[in-house]
Amino acid sequence: MSLSERPRPEPDRDSAPWWEAVRRHELIVQRCDGCAALRFPARSVCNRCRSRNWTWVPASGTGRVYSWIITHQVFLKGLADEVPFLVLLVRLDDGDDLLMYGGLVGAGADVLRPGLPVEAVFTDVPGEDGTTLVQWKPRDLVS
Ligand SMILES: [Zn+2]
Repeated sequence: MSLSERPRPEPDRDSAPWWEAVRRHELIVQRCDGCAALRFPARSVCNRCRSRNWTWVPASGTGRVYSWIITHQVFLKGLADEVPFLVLLVRLDDGDDLLMYGGLVGAGADVLRPGLPVEAVFTDVPGEDGTTLVQWKPRDLVS
């Protein structure tokens, strides 16, 4: 199966601006207008001060591997040909509460360890709807 036949992300009310930014190869997070806390994933209410106002701000694009999973089961038919595949959970350098998922590029699972520095890489998926995915590359390997 080619990358273009994979299931696509389904942006919702809160995440749509994030996906639009990713399409422009920009990594952003929400900053609360009430208390300045950064947050991700996107949500409409700050869990610190309950403010419903926020601004999207650029993230550094760097983080550290928090955890990962290698999926051997076929949970989605559209990804049947991809198993086993690896999904990283990355803690952004911008804040401890900012966790993003994504694939690993530029290296194999053998390099993974908790705390490994990684950098966001934007992968444009072939197709008409212009989906872009955030993946993560070990920072030592970023040229
Ligand atoms: Zn707040």
